[in-house]
Amino acid sequence: MIKTINILFSNQVSLYCYNSNNILKTVNNTNLIISKALLKDISIFGLKNNIHLNLLLSDNYLSEEHKSIFKNNSYSVTYKLAHNKLAHNIDDTSSILVYDLSDEFDFLLSKRPIKYSNMVIRITKNRLNSILDIFSKVIEIADRVNFIHVDLPEYTSSEFDVYKKQLEQISDYLSHKIFALNYMELNFLTDRLLLFNHNNCNAGIDHITVGPNGKCYICPAFYYDNPENNFGDIYDWEIPNTHLYEFENCPLCKMCDCYQCKRCIYLNLTLTGDVNIPSKQQCVLSHIERNASMKLLENEFINKNDFYPIYELDYLDPLDLIKGTKSISLDDRAKHVANILSAPLKNYNKMDIIEAIYKIEPMMLTKIKEILCNGNVRDSNGIR
Ligand code: SF4
Ligand code: SF4
Repeated sequence: MIKTINILFSNQVSLYCYNSNNILKTVNNTNLIISKALLKDISIFGLKNNIHLNLLLSDNYLSEEHKSIFKNNSYSVTYKLAHNKLAHNIDDTSSILVYDLSDEFDFLLSKRPIKYSNMVIRITKNRLNSILDIFSKVIEIADRVNFIHVDLPEYTSSEFDVYKKQLEQISDYLSHKIFALNYMELNFLTDRLLLFNHNNCNAGIDHITVGPNGKCYICPAFYYDNPENNFGDIYDWEIPNTHLYEFENCPLCKMCDCYQCKRCIYLNLTLTGDVNIPSKQQCVLSHIERNASMKLLENEFINKNDFYPIYELDYLDPLDLIKGTKSISLDDRAKHVANILSAPLKNYNKMDIIEAIYKIEPMMLTKIKEILCNGNVRDSNGIR
């Protein structure tokens, strides 16, 4: 069910998430601004359907007129920042700020007088080496930091090696700042510690995007990729094959415990040609982050009892379990996946789990008995 609509105020907003660097080339260079009439219609649609609105702006502030259009809506504002001038004038700390990492960045950080709740920093592979440095500065001005790897499709093992080392250094850095983790949220390190199920982007499931042309898209990346690639307008839209966006229909992700992974539909489509088949780059990146979270748990300053266990893996891409050197039999794969996915249930007793299964779906107990009592599964002594 769609809970949020992202609204691109112009075709110059650029992105707050994954894209390739040349994505704006495909968009008409003229500055297309969303009309006030369309904003009013989206506002009414949001109110009628109880949908949150996320206003995506770039160089322009949210004007008083805009605020008045949305005064009855639940809305948030995301600023894609490229200019110092604007950054220094945003005093609404609840806004999400999106930066492309540039030489101006240090300047911006040094001038910040207030602390923001959420920042997105879009890094490119040539700046991977400076992640620790950037992080150590951002920690002073934001409660939550998200790193987005803009050119992830181009990453090879050497970029992943650099990223892994940077995450290790950030872990060390944090171990000297014992209190930092009490209030810091880092999409690449702490998110996984707090999750027991997938928390993916869910574009096309939880949220859609309306472009300045009034057309609907799965997310902003799809608009910038090709504005023709829409599925209707705000008055009449339907996502084709919407079931393919569902987690349930992504076989590889169902075998995976990288709960913090974005499971980016846009990357899936551009790199594998299917919305429900993840790219190797996404999987390796997310596993490096997952493993860094696991290592963080080994630090003595963390109380392990506050977090669910994360188990050691010997692969960075779940596809390796199906084909390649790590491939294992169907039975072994089922055991392995059940083990890693059930880690958060480790301390619950058997009867609590059975009761929960019954409450969710009584027939599930019938099916489990069919498997376990029908001779298909025996214990190690061969006793039924
Ligand atoms: S599908 Fe989600 S994660 Fe991917 S670019 Fe779009 S909003 Fe970002
Ligand atoms: S790491 Fe790969 S398999 Fe796991 S959730 Fe992300 S995209 Fe899916």
